[in-house]
Amino acid sequence: MERIYNFSAGPAVLPREVLEQARDEMVDWHGCGMSVMEMSHRGKEYMSIQAEAEADLRELMGIPANYKVLFLQGGASSQFAMVPMNLLRGKSSADYLNTGEWSKKAIKEAKKFGAVNVVATSDDKNFSYAPTQDAWKLDPNAAYVHYTPNETIGGVEIFWTPETGAVPLVADMSSNILSRSIDVSKFGVIYAGAQKNIGPAGVTVVIVREDLIGQVVAGTPTMMDYKTHADNESMYNTPPTYGIYIAGLVFKLLKAKGGLTAMEKTNIAKANLLYDTLDSTGFYNSPVARENRSRMNIPFTLKDASLDEEFIKGAKARGLVQLKGHRSVGGMRASIYNAMPIEGVQKLVEFMKEYEAKHG
Ligand SMILES: *Cc1c(COP(=O)(O)O)cnc(C)c1O
Repeated sequence: MERIYNFSAGPAVLPREVLEQARDEMVDWHGCGMSVMEMSHRGKEYMSIQAEAEADLRELMGIPANYKVLFLQGGASSQFAMVPMNLLRGKSSADYLNTGEWSKKAIKEAKKFGAVNVVATSDDKNFSYAPTQDAWKLDPNAAYVHYTPNETIGGVEIFWTPETGAVPLVADMSSNILSRSIDVSKFGVIYAGAQKNIGPAGVTVVIVREDLIGQVVAGTPTMMDYKTHADNESMYNTPPTYGIYIAGLVFKLLKAKGGLTAMEKTNIAKANLLYDTLDSTGFYNSPVARENRSRMNIPFTLKDASLDEEFIKGAKARGLVQLKGHRSVGGMRASIYNAMPIEGVQKLVEFMKEYEAKHG
């Protein structure tokens, strides 16, 4: 069977090697006579799978010992509430950077728990860039500073790490986690839904510095308290076992491929290939400021939007799918996460050139 190239923003492409290994282990994991899906989460087989997934993620990202790694459910969207519940710690307000659709959702939710100080916003230019830190109005008394280093819909990525001094930095890394190496020690909390660059939907990874755990606002449900999960190795209740298993296979594969430094190199090559094509002609346009062009999600428009539909159809006929832009942006969007092979981007670029030759 031929695999298509899937440019979906999420759930997104997974590495073929991982899918094949999962297939091979589907009905009988390592000779134990059952599928990972059927295992007790408290049995030694499954416990070893989850422990190894955590160890591999720690190694890949260089997560320091004073951070907990939690495998939760509820998606990144639940973190929009769990972050203020856990991190306000008696303070009355938090700082948020507003760079687009996901920032806005995080801000809206945080307002249910306290005051939100928007340190800077790029709404003046339709969220096509990220304000640099000299334009941020940080509050030294803020409980934390939240930002979205990669806006999945707008395709705006921040490649530098904000300096927030003693105020914990919180990042929604749903769509760029594992795409390059970062210094985890600069963050208080990092969270990500798995379905973009980690594994299947249903798992949410939260990396949280230990001293921030255990001071939730009154009335916080048990399941929304980081301490519940930190104290129980993410096994207070049944974790999303199969998703964590697949994520673990992805972590192993990334390690075998040279880790995040190698991923970053490939991701730069893939993104450059696409951006160079967009820049080489007036037929296509990238709406994003150069310094914030995402390596993961690349929106682009055609000079003549009436040609969009035929573009999507023509691409699909060549096995290039899920290229339709987000409804709030229009045009096209190519999501090229770690698992998108460079051949997929090459095929897309080839098609773009052909399409331009026909209609340009
Ligand atoms: C997809 C996405 C979300 C929402 O994730 P869910 O897991 O569906 O809740 C939040 N933030 C960013 C940056 C995303 O890309």
